Amino acid sequence: MTSGIIPESGQFLLANVRVHASVTPGFTAAFDSDGFALANIAVADGRVSSITAHGRSKAPVEAIDFGGRIILPCFVDCHTHIDKGHIWPRKPNPDGTFMGALNAAGADRVARWSAEDLARRMDFSLRSAYAHGTRALRTHLDSVAPQEEISWPVFETMREAWRGSIELQGACLIGIEGVRDKKWFDRLAKRVASAKGVLGVVTYMVPDLEELLDHVFAQAIKHGLDLDFHADETDDIAAISLKKIAEAALWNGFEGNILVGHCCSLARQPDLDVLDTLDKVAKAGLAVVSLPMCNLYLQDRRGDGTTPRWRGVTLLHEMKARGIPVAVASDNTRDPFYAYGDLDMLEVYRMATRILHFDHPVADWPQAVTATPAGVMRLDGFGTLAAGGDADFIVFKGRSWTELLSRPESDRIVVRSGRAIDRQLPDYAELDELMVE
Ligand SMILES: [Zn+2]
Repeated sequence: MTSGIIPESGQFLLANVRVHASVTPGFTAAFDSDGFALANIAVADGRVSSITAHGRSKAPVEAIDFGGRIILPCFVDCHTHIDKGHIWPRKPNPDGTFMGALNAAGADRVARWSAEDLARRMDFSLRSAYAHGTRALRTHLDSVAPQEEISWPVFETMREAWRGSIELQGACLIGIEGVRDKKWFDRLAKRVASAKGVLGVVTYMVPDLEELLDHVFAQAIKHGLDLDFHADETDDIAAISLKKIAEAALWNGFEGNILVGHCCSLARQPDLDVLDTLDKVAKAGLAVVSLPMCNLYLQDRRGDGTTPRWRGVTLLHEMKARGIPVAVASDNTRDPFYAYGDLDMLEVYRMATRILHFDHPVADWPQAVTATPAGVMRLDGFGTLAAGGDADFIVFKGRSWTELLSRPESDRIVVRSGRAIDRQLPDYAELDELMVE
């Protein structure tokens, strides 16, 4: 079922659509204070052939008038865990805490993560992401032995199957202590390199953190890999592994891309310490992704019947002000780390707007779910809407930020290569047989 509004021919003119300054490079217009301008977008052969100001000249007869509806480029989701996705019914988090999540997910992995179980849940997740308008997605893959032998081949098969629909990237995920077994870790780095993946590690304060980080960087340099860290996912102000990563990047002269996720403790630390860390993060060229929904769920969960007092997110405004590339992403979906979610990046952006104040002004925050993660993931032409670029975009019902961010926009139109896609979401019942105890 396609929308019926976008012609099947793949050749048309979207007239009177609202484009945003932050994600339409090369289009100059009189943007309003919300960053919007009305435009006409011509599409042919799967590409955007032109973007012109609406109302300048009379639109040709074949134009379809969209009445000022907002159009954004397809989303880029740079931090997910689709290997864990949707296990909630068989392995819920008993108390909603971080430790509860770690233990439950670990037990489920050991007991249940066969290639078939993974493939079916990952495909389910990707179908949801695709239907919501995501074009590229990076997933972390639990790579504690022997899971890496099972998960990486599944990932490689999935990436091929989804090529052209979702550009899939994989990053290995192990606790920093796993790097102590250098022989095993070097083998993992080699495996990741052979899959053209990203080297990923979870960092927290262990006595030999600096030495272990040096070894991670050495392996990344040896194999030419980008890096992706989970850092300081805690309220403990003593957690400063973000700073340690920045320092390690500087003294190792690392030239690849580094994405660091979470960095929750930074928001709790004294201002002077924060400034020092941010100086180093900027100097080292790190990018940071906040996971607002998952952080809100897990952080400051007290377990004693009292109310959470902080939001769990990191200091994205301060980072952006210093030129640090910042993104937001989905993180977990329906697993012990987050009981909800559907890889809908509009939901992530809507929640981020509320939790992180991406408003008044909105400025260039839409880049945090489009162009910025595309840059981190080295995906040229993704996350923007430009003449000569791919016709991969979403047409929403909303005509303003307040309209766009107040409803789920379940009736959005997703256009890929110039054609409206079938937006049917997979049925939860498909996974029922995997959920039997
Ligand atoms: Zn994560």
